[in-house]
Amino acid sequence: MSDREIINVTRASLPPLSEYEAMLKDIWDTAWLTNMGKYHEELKKKLREYLSVGSIELFVNGHSALELLLQALDLHGEVITTPFSFASTTHAIVRNGLTPVFCDINTEDYTLDVSQLEDLITEKTTAIVPVHVYGNICDVEKIQEIADRHHLRVIYDAAHTFGERYKGEGVGSFGDASMFSFHATKVFNTIEGGAVTTGKENKELMAKLYELKNFGILGQEEVASVGANGKMNEFCAAMGLCNLKHVGEYIEKRKAVHNRYMENLSGVAGVILPEHRPEIEYNYAYFPVRFHNYRMNRDEIFENLKQDGINARKYFYPCINAYACYRNQYDVHDTPNALMCSEEILTLPIYPELPLSDVDRICNIILRG
Ligand SMILES: *Cc1c(COP(=O)(O)O)cnc(C)c1O
Repeated sequence: MSDREIINVTRASLPPLSEYEAMLKDIWDTAWLTNMGKYHEELKKKLREYLSVGSIELFVNGHSALELLLQALDLHGEVITTPFSFASTTHAIVRNGLTPVFCDINTEDYTLDVSQLEDLITEKTTAIVPVHVYGNICDVEKIQEIADRHHLRVIYDAAHTFGERYKGEGVGSFGDASMFSFHATKVFNTIEGGAVTTGKENKELMAKLYELKNFGILGQEEVASVGANGKMNEFCAAMGLCNLKHVGEYIEKRKAVHNRYMENLSGVAGVILPEHRPEIEYNYAYFPVRFHNYRMNRDEIFENLKQDGINARKYFYPCINAYACYRNQYDVHDTPNALMCSEEILTLPIYPELPLSDVDRICNIILRG
């Protein structure tokens, strides 16, 4: 390996240190560290506007947001979801005592193959949990139509789509509710953090979520439900307020990286690039490339990049239905597209500060050899 710096798939976006320090001063002055303090409330308000959603509740991380959202909706039985996602999506379903049923993905944008959805619905199905994977927004119209016909809830894992819009509407406004992640590795971070949003204002659901993220406590002398501790603290909320001021620049810089990859890799047989739809405003969170009948396979390219200190990631390998913890319950061959994509896709480094010269270097390693 050369003496060059290691390049990872992403790098956390940080605001100027002075901006964060100024907010810390305030935390020291008030000694209010958590439990829905003023930064928490301010971030909530600003995010509701930024995301163009009717209501929002903040959480300590995206996973607990999803887990508590599923609890709040009081689901039972089977939940249809995708095996091509991060562990969190299915784990949140299982940890609520629900049974995940895996629907295969399409090979255009890797979201749920809606043509297969209806066949998986049984009398036990109560919800669908699709994922806007890599920032590709699912076929929200078709999914809603199927859900309405069968009286199912739709809960989107929108962890990859911070700030995105579909036909001008905030991505967090589709279905019954959506979950966002503000983890350090995401486009917008609060160090660790997450949120649940709804399109129309939903006071009842938000009150339930507030209760569940605070141990189920309703008042000083009343505990109404078996809740958890899912509260976002003031240090995280302050980081969110700082990052929110700069997130537009972060996305612009990511777009430049995306465009450079597109210029360098377009038109190469066997190298399948992301195809962006004009009705979606993207956030450029990921740059997934699928190597399908290319002269090197995905794992060879992964190793070649690693030799040069470039850590691309195999998002998402293995598929969730191949995990050791689910292995004896599912057959990964039931979702052949997800299986194939898990073996063929590599997500390349993309973050605001990634120099375009490094993008060129990464592309050269992929194209040579
Ligand atoms: C990051 C992520 C999550 C979990 O979010 P955390 O904030 O890390 O808990 C859930 N689903 C997907 C698809 C993710 O990428």
